[in-house]
Amino acid sequence: MFFTAGKYQYGHRTVAYRSDYCLSCDDNTVSVQQRTFDVLQVYYVPVLPLGFRKHWHCTRCRKNPHARVKTSQGIKILGLGVFSLFAAMTWLLPFKNSDDAEAVWGLRIGSGCLVALFATLILFHKRGSSMTLSERREALPRFTPTHCLFCGEPFNATAQSCAECQVEYL
Ligand SMILES: [Zn+2]
Ligand SMILES: [Zn+2]
Repeated sequence: MFFTAGKYQYGHRTVAYRSDYCLSCDDNTVSVQQRTFDVLQVYYVPVLPLGFRKHWHCTRCRKNPHARVKTSQGIKILGLGVFSLFAAMTWLLPFKNSDDAEAVWGLRIGSGCLVALFATLILFHKRGSSMTLSERREALPRFTPTHCLFCGEPFNATAQSCAECQVEYL
């Protein structure tokens, strides 16, 4: 018999929208904040109410916009480390005859090229993401749609929230 327990979210209610920078989309997007009532369930039976929680979601990908995305940068750094080590080892390889020398030089040049490739990729990546998340978010204008995304009523850009449904625009 397997044990099933988990957190379940009830009563999704839209509370706010804002301009955002989504790390998953790697782009400027609009995020929606929803309030849910979270309950801990065991065997589909609610056992412990955890209370009201607010969560932000990207309206494009539905994920948490600020969840750290496992970038390929880590893999590139790992690649650089592995191939640097490999390149260093090829210089320590002893060779006795000219046939070996050809193979060893091939390995030395090949691994040297791979090290250079990974180093270039890392430098290129850093240049593209020089702004921090908060800097990107501060650069964004406030999200003010002409019509409320939630109820569709015309939205007054000077107001903080929709007059009709009270959804906030931050
Ligand atoms: Zn997104
Ligand atoms: Zn509204």
